Amino acid sequence: MKTFMTRNSSPTQCPLCGGTKKSGTTTFTADFEFGIVVVREVPATVCTLCGAEWIKDDVAARLEGIVEEAKKKRLQVEVTTLA
Ligand SMILES: [Zn+2]
Repeated sequence: MKTFMTRNSSPTQCPLCGGTKKSGTTTFTADFEFGIVVVREVPATVCTLCGAEWIKDDVAARLEGIVEEAKKKRLQVEVTTLA
């Protein structure tokens, strides 16, 4: 599963396969040296054809914050939701 930022991409057409994107949710995971962060119910735009996903900049920033927080606390496993 690949996740992309929305920057430079069409809001409705998938640049990878030409399929149609629609809004939905995804599960974001971040793997770092000593732990893993899983964020569920992340708002995303998903291609109905190939399943590629795009996350908006503000959502990406929130995910980054969650990852930074987990790193600071040195959590081995953090599972949370964004919704
Ligand atoms: Zn696609």
